[in-house]
Amino acid sequence: MLSNILKRISGKIALSFSYQAEDIVALDLTLKANASDIEIFTLDTFKHFKECLEYHKTIESFYRVEIKKYEPNESRVSELESRLGEFGIRESLENRRECCRVRKVEPLERALRGKAAWITGLRAAQSPTRSALQTIEFDERRDLLKINPLALWSETDVFEYIKRNKLPINPLYNRGFKSVGCAPCTRAVKDGEGARAGRWWWENPEHKECGLHIRETA
Ligand code: SF4
Repeated sequence: MLSNILKRISGKIALSFSYQAEDIVALDLTLKANASDIEIFTLDTFKHFKECLEYHKTIESFYRVEIKKYEPNESRVSELESRLGEFGIRESLENRRECCRVRKVEPLERALRGKAAWITGLRAAQSPTRSALQTIEFDERRDLLKINPLALWSETDVFEYIKRNKLPINPLYNRGFKSVGCAPCTRAVKDGEGARAGRWWWENPEHKECGLHIRETA
């Protein structure tokens, strides 16, 4: 399916890689689909776990690819840090969303500028905010095709694919993490907790998005 879609796209295709188990599957499927003109990118928020930075290098050498880093504007980060301090992001939803806007959303807009399509590792079952996710969507605001090859996959499907294909996984998954994000906003989860329970754990489930995947119709 992915191969059929990708060969019909003219223009550059972006694949976002944020060190999640789903991302390695989406990357593997995309490379196996023989897509050309793909840019693999990550958003370097300056807040990643050291395990993620090491995993970045592991994946680059495993596939012999470059994962391009898009960084936030340094002066905006400095201003944010001096105003909010280390834990101001937990004091209000607006503060947290502002941090995500500066460190993630604005760099993402740069990463997607001029791209014809965007491949993600999103799954509908990950959270209430993603329940209506489709395999193929059109992102009208960014004027590009958004391809979510794992939209209908379960968590079990993801880990079975990883095991079957012997793919390297972020070491945080072996320490109880079920979803990976910035260090101040992500923690390991207990047995029985949902995959995104460790993300922004102080917020309600319906707020748990960083603004990268806000659906126009949601
Ligand atoms: S996840 Fe946390 S540290 Fe990362 S950009 Fe959002 S608020 Fe900032």
